[in-house]
Amino acid sequence: MGVNYVPEPFRIKMVETIKMLSREEREQKIAEAKYNTFNLKGEDVYIDLLTDSGTNAMSQEQWAGVMRGDEAYAGASSYYKLIETAQEIFGYKYIQPVHQGRAAEKVLFGLLMGEGQYSISNMHFDTTRAHVELAGARAIDCVVPEASNPAKRVPFKGNMDVEKLEALINEHGADKIAVVIMTVTNNSAGGQPVSIQNVRETAKICKKYGIRFCIDAARYAENAYFVKQREEGYADKSIKEIVKEMFSYADMFTMSAKKDTIVNMGGLVGIKEDEKLYQACKGRTISFEGFVTYGGLSGRDLESLAIGLHEGLDENYLRYRIGQMEYLAGRLDDAGIAYQSPVGGHGVFVDAKAMFPHIPYYEFPGQALAIELYKEAGIRTCDIGSFMLGNNPDTGKQLKANFEFTRLAIPRRVYTQSHIDVMANALIAIKEKANKVKGYKITWEPPILRHFQAHLAPVEK
Ligand SMILES: *Cc1c(COP(=O)(O)O)cnc(C)c1O
Repeated sequence: MGVNYVPEPFRIKMVETIKMLSREEREQKIAEAKYNTFNLKGEDVYIDLLTDSGTNAMSQEQWAGVMRGDEAYAGASSYYKLIETAQEIFGYKYIQPVHQGRAAEKVLFGLLMGEGQYSISNMHFDTTRAHVELAGARAIDCVVPEASNPAKRVPFKGNMDVEKLEALINEHGADKIAVVIMTVTNNSAGGQPVSIQNVRETAKICKKYGIRFCIDAARYAENAYFVKQREEGYADKSIKEIVKEMFSYADMFTMSAKKDTIVNMGGLVGIKEDEKLYQACKGRTISFEGFVTYGGLSGRDLESLAIGLHEGLDENYLRYRIGQMEYLAGRLDDAGIAYQSPVGGHGVFVDAKAMFPHIPYYEFPGQALAIELYKEAGIRTCDIGSFMLGNNPDTGKQLKANFEFTRLAIPRRVYTQSHIDVMANALIAIKEKANKVKGYKITWEPPILRHFQAHLAPVEK
């Protein structure tokens, strides 16, 4: 039987009314959006689970920080507050704010890699893969094989396959591997955590071959919470201690602060001690983002980000946060709906391949379920599967993803238990008529990051 709901460690002070459309209206809206949930208007969505990125509810302290933000062009006090906070939490010498995670990738990756080189990751997030390719290099995913079996419950399904990593380094030559990136939690594998032991072993291999080791740190706090729950020897450590240890093994990090630091916009580059690299980063930040001390953000953003860095590490908050995922997953267990299990940190990744065995990967089962969820209950989600993966950049052929997920990404501190019940009830209703759901074909697509913009149409057979 299901899991108990962990009560919220906060109360509501401000509310936002949401529009409720009829099923007929929703069917019309999704057709007008060319069956791409990214093309829907936010106001036409009842429960928005498109992403947990930048959709978080800030605290009263963060909103107070917005008012205190120092908008000086250079040397704002909010900048120094952010830098000192981040240096203290991560133990890195150099911190560069940027406007979001992909900006951190753009600033850093152009300095790390070029033509003929590779980036190896436990899994590249889509923008991470795009920036590797834009820098002229190629991205190789190297996650443990359990990650592609949604039914297999292992504690650290986001881990790097360290044996394969070493084999890949030997196959291509260490000088061709520009960087090894550890994504925590492993977003594309379903928000699955990475163990500290795995980070340590990966770092050891990087050191052995003289390869730089970077953490893609979007969900470092959720990852640390899982380490505390699941990894031997960490139960009595604080989240802060676990975070510090994890970052101590890497040379640098890129971070989308729109996730675990509970703000609406922001990102960071962290460099442990390489001063030359930091100087080069500053140059690229000025060209792409803005002056070093604001990096594409307002002073008020820097201020609320500094506060969010601490709030995101609060254990009562993390227990409630992960508890929401576990509650939803428990309801799906009761209904026999498959998902990437055990449930990850920032959402439930429903196994659309299991729900629609009649829809092949090139007709995008994950996208089909996303469309059904919107029609059924006004819930907006997205595909994490072959539709998102896109085409081989060299041949232009559709790639086949290891899994076909529909991601219900849960924004932080935004939705309540009854919203979570709406999600579970909608999935149960769709499962009952699953054999009637059709696949989709692409009618237009841009060359890169196509899932954000592509147009689709139902396949009529
Ligand atoms: C969100 C995310 C990014 C990109 O960050 P943006 O802030 O969306 O630009 C990179 N890597 C991972 C793992 C992410 O989840």
